[in-house]
Amino acid sequence: MTELKTGGAQGYLRIATEEAFITKEVLAAYKRLISEGFDDPGFNSLWGFYSGSPSERATAIIERLQDLGARRLGDMDDAGIDKAVIALTAPGTHVFATDEAKALTTDANDQLAAACKRHPDRFIGMTAIAPQDPAWSAKEIERGHELGFKAVILNGHVNGEYTDDEKFWPIFEAADALGTPVYLHPQGPSKGLIGPLLERGLDGAVYGFGVDTGLHLLRLIVMGVFDRFPNLKFVVGHGGEALPYWAYRLDYMHAAGIRSGRYDFLKPLKLPISGYFKRNIFVTFSGVAWEPAIQFCRSTLGPDRIMYAMDYPYQYQPEEVAVQDAMTMSAEDKKAFFQTNAEKVFGL
Ligand code: MN
Repeated sequence: MTELKTGGAQGYLRIATEEAFITKEVLAAYKRLISEGFDDPGFNSLWGFYSGSPSERATAIIERLQDLGARRLGDMDDAGIDKAVIALTAPGTHVFATDEAKALTTDANDQLAAACKRHPDRFIGMTAIAPQDPAWSAKEIERGHELGFKAVILNGHVNGEYTDDEKFWPIFEAADALGTPVYLHPQGPSKGLIGPLLERGLDGAVYGFGVDTGLHLLRLIVMGVFDRFPNLKFVVGHGGEALPYWAYRLDYMHAAGIRSGRYDFLKPLKLPISGYFKRNIFVTFSGVAWEPAIQFCRSTLGPDRIMYAMDYPYQYQPEEVAVQDAMTMSAEDKKAFFQTNAEKVFGL
């Protein structure tokens, strides 16, 4: 295996675009929800495991999530990662009552901003929000922008509600006004969706995350968020949560449904569904270090729409970096994948 080094000797810097952290305060509050018997099976499955399991996987991830210093930097050095775009881990503060969510969100943003200030060449932050209060979140997005954050993290559904409901759109309006991208990250599937997934242990990152997040993004598209905000930038991980692979059928069947008037609440869109993937949406390959999937999106969406991500610390596998270094791709496209697309999308 090639020795992985930071510094760009291979012709590009490596910018990892979907990296996670947690504050001690949010972790303690997650544990409290679990102990109170919180009524959200997706959350309980995810955080019941990570916060309670004595397994090596869970303990190592909990330790790494809480570190915004030497350990994280050492791991980045070992994996040849020059810069990490870091966000509060899933489900962020979406699970808390509104006042507690806002307090924990403000504090998490302050802690992340301090770490980015300590390591300005290595860490880039995303603004966490409490979408339970969209107007407050819009203000927090502005504060995050002033703190130097380069994106907004939207950690999936909000207690089972999806953000295609117009009451959440002040969040998108604020991001759009600042030209800052919204990163839609998975969490456990909503209560209405999780049943058959949980029944077979498929609710987590293995599959359920992608089902819930792909659905969330599709709901946003079909309800016209990107017609209302044509310049709004969204980033979605895990190879686009499988949606690029569905593009042909999504375009055909969605158009057929609109033409036939099958659903009176669905209005015609200005673009086919895949058109929003080529105009508004950027795809990262967090947790999908698989060349055929990356090449598929490069060829169907374009080389300027795909970005590298590791999904640290949930999938900290330095050998996956070497696999992606070795992809059969022009030097220009590979540099775009690892470095320059992230610089453009996040405005670094
Ligand atoms: Mn992730």
